[in-house]
Order: sequence, then structure tokens, then C-alpha cells
Amino acid sequence: MEKQIYLDHAATTAVDSRVIEKMLPYFSGVYGNASSQHFYGRRAQQALDEARDTIASLLNAQPSEIYFTSGGTEGDNWAMKGIALANQAKGKHIITTVIEHPAMLASCKDLEALGFEISYLSVDKEGRISLEELKSLIREDTILISCMYANNEIGTIQPIEEIAQIAKEKKVLFFTDAVQAIPYMNIDVKKVGMDAMAISAHKFNGPKGVGVLYVRNGVKIKSILSGGHQERTKRGGTSNVAGAVGLAEALRLSRLNLEENNAKIKMLRDHFVKRVSEEIPYAYYNGHKELRVPSNADFSFEFIEGESILFSLDLEGIAVSSGSACSSGSLEPSHVLLAIGVDEALAHGSIRFSFGKSNTLEEVDFVVDKLKEIISRLRMMSPLFKG
Ligand SMILES: *Cc1c(COP(=O)(O)O)cnc(C)c1O
Repeated sequence: MEKQIYLDHAATTAVDSRVIEKMLPYFSGVYGNASSQHFYGRRAQQALDEARDTIASLLNAQPSEIYFTSGGTEGDNWAMKGIALANQAKGKHIITTVIEHPAMLASCKDLEALGFEISYLSVDKEGRISLEELKSLIREDTILISCMYANNEIGTIQPIEEIAQIAKEKKVLFFTDAVQAIPYMNIDVKKVGMDAMAISAHKFNGPKGVGVLYVRNGVKIKSILSGGHQERTKRGGTSNVAGAVGLAEALRLSRLNLEENNAKIKMLRDHFVKRVSEEIPYAYYNGHKELRVPSNADFSFEFIEGESILFSLDLEGIAVSSGSACSSGSLEPSHVLLAIGVDEALAHGSIRFSFGKSNTLEEVDFVVDKLKEIISRLRMMSPLFKG
């Protein structure tokens, strides 16, 4: 494979070399356990504290509101289960959306098994929830609203500030999975006003296996990883110092040229969308036209299978995703596409392209050219295609 083009930045990103540099001392030089009371431990603890301070200041939070986790999946699980269990005296009703990440939907299933009742907000054709529907679902016993900031499959951004406002007025807690938003949005937790938020380092050029759960001071949350006294007794387990340092540095770097990088990524994405829309018949662009992260382009191609497109692109050295990475491998069509009204057959022909700052216009043009060939070849073989 001579050419390799990565268009799957919503699945994961490469670790920035400056992040690696920053992390390296914490593997074998400063390798102490941050809980140890000798100088090895103190040095590790100091690095952990600095990382926490950096992240807090970038998010406009207090260091005491930053909890290190193993990533977005843990953040979603912990926020949902931890907040539900700590606040169940007030009620056992939770509101979320039908298009959440599988980590969130699975956490909701777990909570249902524990006797919690979950209401699922629908979304419109562009993947946006309705604030009116949200208001109508809030009850006396509602304790928590959970709505992702930006969707991982179609990129649609939700009205998070408005949801936070409604939650505050109704005295209901509000959690947002901001894993797909944080790479592109300079989120100020005080300004937005959510009570809890999950992010994951590997979606913004940080290492895999580390994330942050922001929990506003005063919000009750139970720990779900019982163990030592790490993370102010809320999350047991020896601190991942190198990971925390890497997350802090990746977040700091991502804020430096955020607007510039967003503009570049959006330019590549928009060029791609324009060419695909004009040059490939029966291609449907999913999600909201404007209210979406700059990196995401999700298309449904009629009469063919997304998996066949993915494998053909793979042979050409082009990496994309069909549906969400978590659901590929299963034959279920994407729950997000079904939720925005894409019919089942069409949903099966969907591909998510997600662009990054290191992609080039030449790469995008190369991908569109290959995609055109692949799609017309697959359609020639498709019994469904009469055109
Ligand atoms: C990737 C992702 C997650 C899971 O994060 P991990 O760190 O990979 O566990 C959760 N939510 C959303 C929206 C994501 O895109």
C-alpha cells in the first residue's frame, strides 16, 4: 500500500509528538506511585497536580472538579451510575437521547436493571433534540438529564447551553458526553453550566486510555471503581500519571490554534461534501448542515453496502468507518441513522468520513476520485441498482 490516508479521526487520532515528549519522563524516570509518601511518589503527585491544574484552567473549572478516568466509556458509565446512585433519594427518573454513544446507552440499560426509569428524547432529521420535548419529559422525580455535546456518527451539535439552563431551572442535574466536541470547541464549563462532562484524550491527539470527568463542586456522585483513596477517594486505582500529563498537554496544544485548525478541517470537509454531493448520484449527506463538528461528513450511498465501500477503500489505503466503530462488525444498522429517519436499507450503505488537521486537499480529491470509481463499480454489481 503506497498511499495511506486516514479519514477516521472520530475513532481516534495520532498522539502529537510534543505530547509523547511530555509523557516520556513518567514511564521510567519519574515512575513513582503518586500515592507513595517518599520523594518518588511526591514527584509523580506533583506532575499529576500540575496536569489537573492545567486541565482545570483550560476548562475554567476548579482542580477539585477534575477526575482522571480511563476515557470516555468510563466517564459515561461513572457519570450516569454515580450520579443516579447518589441522588436516587430524590427520584429514579433519568432523561437521555436516542442517539447517545453505546457507552451511555449501555449504562442506561444497567440503570434500568437497577430500577431506574429512562426516557429517551427523539431527534429530528438533522439529529437535534427538541427543547420542548425535553421540558415535557421532566417530572418531579427526574434527577438527571444526559445529552451528548456532539454526535460521534453524524457530528450534530446539540443546544447544550439551553439544556443546561432548563436543567438548572428545573433543579435537575445535567451531564454531557463531550468526547466528540472537545477537540473542536473551547468549552468553558462555568459558561455552559453543565454539572458533569466527560472527555477522552485520544480523540484530540492525546494517549488512549485516559480521560477526564468534570464534576461540578457540590454535585453528589458515588464512586463506581472502589479502591484506594485516589482522586479524592472517588476513583480507586493507581494514578495514570503519564496519561494525565499527556491529556493535559494534548488539551493545551489543541487550544493553541483551535480556530485555525477548525477552519482548515472544515475547508477539507466542505470540499469533500461538495464534490461528493455533485459528482456521486444517490448520495445523501446525514446530519445538520451547519450545527456539526468541522471534521464530520457522513453519507448514505443508496443501493450498496457500507461495509463493501469500507473494504474497497481499505484496499486503496483509505481508512474510514461504517456506522459507528462500535457497531461495525454487527449487522445492526446504526441506531443514530435510524433515529434521524434514514431507512434501514439506506442506513446499511453509510460511511463516516472524519477529517483531521494533517489531511490535505490532494488527499481529499484522491479519496473522492476513488470513491466515485468504487461506488459505480459496486452499483454495477448490485441487484438493487437499475440506473
Ligand atoms: C469515543 C467516544 C466515547 C468513548 O471514549 P473512549 O475513551 O474510547 O472510551 C464516548 N463517547 C463518544 C461520543 C465518543 O466519541
